[in-house]
Amino acid sequence: MASAFSHAVFASGLGAAGSPRARMPVRYWVALAIIGAAPDLDVVVYPAGLNAPHIFGHRGITHALPFAAVCAALVVPLLFRGVEWRPHRFRLWLAVFAAMVSHAVLDALTNGGQGIAFFAPFSAARFHFPWQPIRVSPIGLTAFFSLDGLRVIQNELVWVWLPSALLILVARLVRARHAGWGTYASYPDPAHGDHSRGLRTSRPASAEAHVSEGHDRSRR
Ligand SMILES: [Zn+2]
Repeated sequence: MASAFSHAVFASGLGAAGSPRARMPVRYWVALAIIGAAPDLDVVVYPAGLNAPHIFGHRGITHALPFAAVCAALVVPLLFRGVEWRPHRFRLWLAVFAAMVSHAVLDALTNGGQGIAFFAPFSAARFHFPWQPIRVSPIGLTAFFSLDGLRVIQNELVWVWLPSALLILVARLVRARHAGWGTYASYPDPAHGDHSRGLRTSRPASAEAHVSEGHDRSRR
């Protein structure tokens, strides 16, 4: 596996790209971070000896696409009950689903460990991608905070954290650009006899200053 921190960070990056609103409640980010790391809870079955090809072993059912789909379908209505979220439910489901699937995808890019049962319970087949740039992370806290653990963190900074930061940056830039498209749009408002009301109130300070200055001049 990649480390739990990296799974959480990458899931948050996907959440930033897929969120239905620019500002999301804290529970959205917390849920994504937990969902991103949660599939590795299957390590609790290690003592029971359930490993590949058993679907309940590590990187089995909890890393599968159908499992992620069901989890997202349960989590979204639970966390976003309000009617204001209803139009966004599918997008929220997609964001949570992608966050959970990203865990399996990152694992499949690691250079060790068992393969991923992407299609469990329909197939017990395990997969690794042919390209495996991510070092497999040691299991257990003691092993993680060792020299090997430090090498894993260094590797994940490049292959997981950096792409996550880029994803968040691009998502923010795209949102800012979309918001900017409506900045100077206007629509008629016959009720107030005003034909120049802005769609948004986010006009730049310089534009407001210019308008005020114009009014002042007309009074002189
Ligand atoms: Zn995993």
